[in-house]
Amino acid sequence: MSFTLAIVGRPNVGKSTLFNRLVGKRLALVDDQPGVTRDLREGEAKLGDLRFTVIDTAGLEEATDDSLQGRMRRLTERAVEMADVCLFMIDARTGVLPADEVFADILRKKNAHVLLAANKGEGRAADAGVIEAYALGLGEPLRISAEHGEGMGDLLAALMPIADEFAAREAEYTPDTDVTLAEGEADAGEDIDAEARITPQKPLQVAVVGRPNAGKSTLINRIIGEERLLTGPEAGITRDSISLRTTWNGTPMRIFDTAGMRKKAKVQEKLEKLSVSDGLRAVKFAEVVVVLLDVEIPFEQQDLRIADLAEREGRAVVIAANKWDAEPEKQEKLRELKANFERLLPQLRGAPLVTVSAKTGKGLDRLHAAILRAHEVWNRRVSTARLNRWLGEMVEAHPPPAPSGRRIKLRYMTQAKTRPPGFVVMCSNPEKLSDSYSRYLINGLRDSFDMPGTPIRLHMRSQA
Ligand code: GDP
Ligand code: GDP
Repeated sequence: MSFTLAIVGRPNVGKSTLFNRLVGKRLALVDDQPGVTRDLREGEAKLGDLRFTVIDTAGLEEATDDSLQGRMRRLTERAVEMADVCLFMIDARTGVLPADEVFADILRKKNAHVLLAANKGEGRAADAGVIEAYALGLGEPLRISAEHGEGMGDLLAALMPIADEFAAREAEYTPDTDVTLAEGEADAGEDIDAEARITPQKPLQVAVVGRPNAGKSTLINRIIGEERLLTGPEAGITRDSISLRTTWNGTPMRIFDTAGMRKKAKVQEKLEKLSVSDGLRAVKFAEVVVVLLDVEIPFEQQDLRIADLAEREGRAVVIAANKWDAEPEKQEKLRELKANFERLLPQLRGAPLVTVSAKTGKGLDRLHAAILRAHEVWNRRVSTARLNRWLGEMVEAHPPPAPSGRRIKLRYMTQAKTRPPGFVVMCSNPEKLSDSYSRYLINGLRDSFDMPGTPIRLHMRSQA
């Protein structure tokens, strides 16, 4: 099993050219004249060491009438549904056209995992178009030239984490898990299926990480147990899997279980190899990382390292202090936890801290709510208009420094991506802007747009 990449975008941006380059055979027709009608094509792509399936949506005429526009939309939607990740391509030489916005809208509505590529990126003629691409709000554009093979290394680098994620998912298909989950899912009744048919919802990817004995296995068993997917002592079977699919309080989730991995590794005598990488893999897999602390020994080095890693990888983080049932001085302990959290993990300011007992199940509803909320904030999008109004106010309240007498001008701001939120500010002399000013803006974004806890990325781009 590998992942599927769909190349989408308006006609003539170079989709087929890239498809041909990735597939390697001259399967696709390339024509200077838009209008050669073709349908979705699939090929086996090779890029560096990566192998994946690629779908090409090329071949639709310029959408001049309704039926064509409709067809283009349907074809793109179908490709998006088939794909795990979409490469949305624009033509950097023409810049962003209204037709590109149509595709960007489809991708947003479908909540697709999107990589943005600014093609025909060879040469200076593409510079302005690459900058414009940021305003689509789909992340940092990969500057490529499908025709000349430029930027393929960057494309490869962008696809690597996706490939890793899929490799991790693949590993969950062990015979044991298949049997267990098949029974469990049948047991869960038809409600989930019916729901899924109405609103196809991707499971929320959650990793539970923490030091050994923090209670990860107990917590995951408790979550799964609540849905009665698995009952009785056989629940232990699930410990052989790497990720588990479940529905928790009505939310479809895929939970990455590092404790299970460790125990499985023991059996396979690969303990050393796996234990080094399991935290990292869990974090890469996840949308939300739950750092489970043992309340008797909270914020150990290992906890801090994994929380910091999650932040650097741009994941939403929830801190859960476990074994709260065994804590005699709850009030005082909570105050102490909060203070230590602020002091030791300032990069996660505002991230939810919840107290739970995996053993009794107390606090699990709060944990569930915190996970959903962290995920929502992580996906938050702020309109360009609001951002620029806000930027004006921030600059007025506290103007940027004026190194060597010339004030740095912040001209324009847009949200380039979500998951986590990333912003681009166009400014003069970005290299001279101090870290403290960036922090001022980041903290301001958190407060003004209610984005506590989530990692926020702020990029300064030069624009004279
Ligand atoms: P599609 O309709 O999106 O599949 O676009 P095609 O792949 O058919 O390409 C449309 C035109 O753009 C063709 O003339 C290609 O040769 C040209 N083209 C594709 N990639 C590049 C590129 O990287 N640079 C330049 N300059 N032209 C390109
Ligand atoms: P893991 O290594 O992180 O998977 O930790 P386990 O789930 O195996 O739990 C380690 C130990 O902590 C076991 O003895 C559990 O019974 C105990 N434990 C787990 N959660 C709780 C809790 O909420 N309260 C108390 N008092 N003990 C717990």
